[in-house]
Amino acid sequence: MQLIDGKATAAAIKAEIAQEVEARKNAGLKVPHLAAILVGHDGGSETYVANKVKACADCGFKSTLIRLESTYEAPLDPNVLMAEIDKLNNDPDVDGFIVQLPLPKHIDEQAVIEAILPEKDVDGFHPVNVGRQSVGLPCFHSATPAGIVELLRRYGISTAGKRVVIVGRSNIVGKPLAAMLMQKGAQADATVTVCHSHTPDLPSIMRQADILVAALGRPGFVTADMVADGAVVIDVGTTRVPDASRKSGFRLSGDVDFENVAPKCSAITPVPGGVGPMTIVSLMLNTLQAAKNRD
Ligand code: NAP
Repeated sequence: MQLIDGKATAAAIKAEIAQEVEARKNAGLKVPHLAAILVGHDGGSETYVANKVKACADCGFKSTLIRLESTYEAPLDPNVLMAEIDKLNNDPDVDGFIVQLPLPKHIDEQAVIEAILPEKDVDGFHPVNVGRQSVGLPCFHSATPAGIVELLRRYGISTAGKRVVIVGRSNIVGKPLAAMLMQKGAQADATVTVCHSHTPDLPSIMRQADILVAALGRPGFVTADMVADGAVVIDVGTTRVPDASRKSGFRLSGDVDFENVAPKCSAITPVPGGVGPMTIVSLMLNTLQAAKNRD
């Protein structure tokens, strides 16, 4: 069994990006600039945004964090958020930006996603990028699927002709990953099955997978009996599970019962240290691409 080390792979890619940024500087080109809008103080979002700001520093990017307060007593006026998006859309120094999700319930997330200019939408969530991806045109790919594809590529795991089973059909993981892997070409050409909560007899479908991707958000859902001998298992799940022994009071749990599933696999990603770091590095790659597109 091979452990697929997303943390080390992401570190290597960040070093490559930093080199490219240095070369850009030497050539008189602009340093990529990523901005992020964070609404409120959700614990998970705070961590993700802090990691993204740190990744920008590692890559030599400029980063800007815009914080907008929103509480139960004083919810953020959605127009204020839209005005910030408008500013970033029109700021020539900003190459790409993200609005950290999830947003407070009173804000229409889809309207926010659609307000971002597609050429600055480095999260790849805008329908223009989603549509371009689905027909195989150049676009900003959604970060988590792009990170998974890159991780497989760097570990020499081909998807061509393989049966890939994805459990979870979200707009940010399951659907875009399926769209990427069913394209023609390198690191694609897979036969993809997407499962969800209405899929009958899920374990029998999962057992047919050469590559099984778990993206449900249900800790330990994938057990050894659901995995074929020699399968590659990609665990996207990251759920905060209460853990009194940790200073933070929680630990991150994947969707896979790692201890019992790993011995059956040819390769598997851990949680943490698997898909998560690759998601952030994909955002960096998209931002670098956005800067190149604007050169
Ligand atoms: P989501 O929007 O909550 O969607 C979950 C999907 O799983 C849905 O399609 C749902 O089916 C399906 N599902 C839930 N329970 C199921 C069951 N018992 N059997 C079959 N399907 C089931 O999730 P998401 O945003 O894609 O996130 C999934 C997990 O990945 C979460 O733990 C999240 O934190 C993690 N994540 C990690 C990264 C990373 O960088 N590592 C990035 C994104 C997400 P229905 O559609 O029928 O409801």
